[in-house]
Amino acid sequence: MRDISHKLAFAHDGKAARYSDVFDPNNGTVQARVALGDKALLDRAVEAAKAAQPAWAAVNPQRRARVMFNFKALVEKNMDELAYLLSSEHGKVIADAKGDIQRGLEVIEFCCGIPHVLKGEYTQGAGPGIDVYSFRQPIGIGAGITPFNFPGMIPLWMSGVAIATGNAFIMKPSERDPSVPVRLAELFSEAGLPDGILQVVQGDKEMVDAILDHPDIGAISFVGSSDIAHYVYKRGVDNGKRVQAMGGAKNHGIVMPDADLDQVVNDLSGAAFGSAGERCMALPVVTPVGEKTAIALREKLIPAIEALRVGVSTDPDAHYGPVVTAAHKAKIENYIQMGVDEGAELVVDGRGFTLQGHEEGFFVGPTLFDHVKPTMRTYQEEIFGPVLQMVRAESFEEALKLPSEHQYGNGVAIFTRNGHAAREFAARVNVGMVGINVPIPVPVAYHTFGGWKRSAFGDTNQHGMEGVKFWTKVKTITQRWPDGGGTGDSAFVIPTMG
Ligand code: NAD
Repeated sequence: MRDISHKLAFAHDGKAARYSDVFDPNNGTVQARVALGDKALLDRAVEAAKAAQPAWAAVNPQRRARVMFNFKALVEKNMDELAYLLSSEHGKVIADAKGDIQRGLEVIEFCCGIPHVLKGEYTQGAGPGIDVYSFRQPIGIGAGITPFNFPGMIPLWMSGVAIATGNAFIMKPSERDPSVPVRLAELFSEAGLPDGILQVVQGDKEMVDAILDHPDIGAISFVGSSDIAHYVYKRGVDNGKRVQAMGGAKNHGIVMPDADLDQVVNDLSGAAFGSAGERCMALPVVTPVGEKTAIALREKLIPAIEALRVGVSTDPDAHYGPVVTAAHKAKIENYIQMGVDEGAELVVDGRGFTLQGHEEGFFVGPTLFDHVKPTMRTYQEEIFGPVLQMVRAESFEEALKLPSEHQYGNGVAIFTRNGHAAREFAARVNVGMVGINVPIPVPVAYHTFGGWKRSAFGDTNQHGMEGVKFWTKVKTITQRWPDGGGTGDSAFVIPTMG
């Protein structure tokens, strides 16, 4: 069986005391096993990072940017191989796997401009003969801990900005689909990144805890489920680290009575069921406003959902593939049963879905619930599968309240032709990322990604200028160059610039 190991700056035989199975979700078989690293391995990786980082921070920013340009070209050259690898472990269809890598690559494109971004600020003549300037310096050693659902994009969100700003970075991918981050790190080496600046350590909770407790790791970026995000945030901060920890989501799509329903149905099909619903920016809740909207939307949604094509991840005609593991499939199907037990109307039931020739694959058919109530557990919790829940609202105010009062606040979308309603909604909704007639409002790389409430712990977002802030510390210099001579008077009161 194939073994998946780490990408380290020192010689290692790849063997481990513990391993975790990596499945082929299309067939339900074990396709590889991944070595689970421990504290001793992390200690060595940190030593290698410490040795390499000062020289990397001293490389001028345009040279660091050149590595980013080279890396971008290499990823583009190897896109097909990377997408197949990603799809074979995750289960998302190939076109979607390419999108996963492409969205990460857009952060690398942002990083190609790092010399401009790091220019700093300068005030000449802030006081008599006094100039003030500030610049950003790397934290030193950063670490990233990532979820299974975007094994290309999320490691690149973190590693790109951390490295471009002069840090050494240690990546701990999800043990469920661990291969793509290793391949990306190999391409970074090929692009000219010095040894020790990007290392990949595989592992589970044991490795995460070692990262959280390591005294030489200064900043940790985490993306995953909310309970683990909260744990990572608390333990990391208690250990004096800078931590950003993104968590789960339950994004709503609000459909106003004047929305173009055909467009909404197209948008919802992709946003609720694409990648089998395993996206933190999926739209698993739809809220039609008014009875007439609900009836008309439901009428159009049912045939669209029934027409969705579920297939193996290499099928170019499939809309979505299997979910990641048998355990995740069971969890989704349990939630569907819970929805029935709670009294929601199961309109399209995706349980028991099988694909000929792939009977053991982890497939879940598209599922639609109607008459879901905010008091139901299946509404309050994240399902993370191909399940769309319709929660009807009588008015704009009631619809606005639903995402605003939900425990998660990652993304939300409103579908309307009314600019005033959209503007009002965007201003008042208690959620971090808003789409107006855009179903998956993942901001572009030079803006910034992050939710509110239990969708994100810490106060700095991913990528864009927020990412640069997270991976750097600002230093401010106040300088005076006297032209010689006298010493001036001592100042016993706080100096002001007059
Ligand atoms: P997860 O929380 O199970 O795992 C995330 C990481 O934490 C993995 O690297 C894993 O090894 C590690 N981990 C797991 N259990 C741990 C424990 N007990 N202690 C310490 N570390 C542990 O998440 P997942 O299932 O891989 O990913 C899906 C989740 O990620 C969903 O909740 C989804 O909404 C969320 N997500 C959020 C965003 C965002 O930006 N807000 C983006 C993508 C995914």
